[in-house]
Amino acid sequence: MYKEIALFAEKLGATVEFNAPMKKYTSFKCGGNASLLITPTSSDSLQKIISYCYTKNIKPLIIGNGSNLLVTDNGINNIVIKIGSKMSQIELIDETTIFCEAGASLKSLCMFALENSLSGLEFAYGIPGTLGGAVYMNAGAYGGEMKDVLFSCKHIDENGNVGEIEQNELNLRYRGSAYTDNGCTVVSAIMKLKKAEKTDIKGAMDDKLQRRKDKQPLEYPSAGSTFKRPEGYFAGALIEESGLKGYTVGGAQVSEKHAGFVINKNNATATDIITLIKDVQKIVFENSGIMLETEVKIIGD
Ligand SMILES: Cc1cc2nc3c(=O)[nH]c(=O)nc-3n(C[C@H](O)[C@H](O)[C@H](O)COP(=O)(O)OP(=O)(O)OC[C@H]3O[C@@H](n4cnc5c(N)ncnc54)[C@H](O)[C@@H]3O)c2cc1C
Repeated sequence: MYKEIALFAEKLGATVEFNAPMKKYTSFKCGGNASLLITPTSSDSLQKIISYCYTKNIKPLIIGNGSNLLVTDNGINNIVIKIGSKMSQIELIDETTIFCEAGASLKSLCMFALENSLSGLEFAYGIPGTLGGAVYMNAGAYGGEMKDVLFSCKHIDENGNVGEIEQNELNLRYRGSAYTDNGCTVVSAIMKLKKAEKTDIKGAMDDKLQRRKDKQPLEYPSAGSTFKRPEGYFAGALIEESGLKGYTVGGAQVSEKHAGFVINKNNATATDIITLIKDVQKIVFENSGIMLETEVKIIGD
């Protein structure tokens, strides 16, 4: 079955890889293989491939840059579709409106906004994901979030049809969106920004990046903040107060630099990381009565 789908995808110009090592495609750099990884080259071929999968009763797993994913050591017994740089067109629609395909990196989107003197995306500079992943997660940082700039999104639904959702129905909330609920694949988005001075935009972007470099363990593989922020608290502070800074399981560690980050310090397996996450949840709960929920998506068998 997967061979048939691979042949179909290849005819449409997509790249296919059997037994794809997911450590190559995720920022945590661990985990097992995916049965088949398909990288389409256009939204048109993406739609055809997704529709074809559905006719075979297969719901493929969609990924972007893999910067919020932890793949289990047993890997993913499914088709994974990676939406990346081959679907990354960015265009100006009018003076303050940007069209962007799902596979564009947030970095290139932020640079495009800067080049066009458009403000509103500075918060996203330094988040290592794609636009599609950022919409799905309603990515945010330093007081900004995708919700502030999104006007509408195009997607492929579970029947393979193209649809569109406007801002008021995107249900954008803390690390979630309509797409977290409905299983559709984000293909592109339209964002509304504001005209501003280039030097101010650049200054804000540089400031955000510097704050990341100062506070986050960017020298190690991770998926960013491992846990969601519990209302009224900070996950990192709760972990630190529980004495878990530097806590280690195998090659996984609660970062000494920022307790909100679990890092792959030394060739960690996904099992090391999952065990560590569970230990942290248990100890923090015993210490504070608060159950931390993971922000990172754990996928695989
Ligand atoms: C060092 C570091 C710092 C980070 N800092 C931040 C931060 O400040 N703020 C923040 O919010 N996040 C942060 N993250 C987490 C991550 O970068 C974001 O969640 C990002 O939006 C994920 O994008 P992605 O393309 O990597 O998605 P992936 O990790 O590939 O996927 C994440 C989820 O989105 C889904 N998805 C991806 N693309 C699509 C699509 N086109 N259509 C439908 N579903 C899709 C996937 O199925 C998965 O469930 C950080 C991560 C790292 C490693």
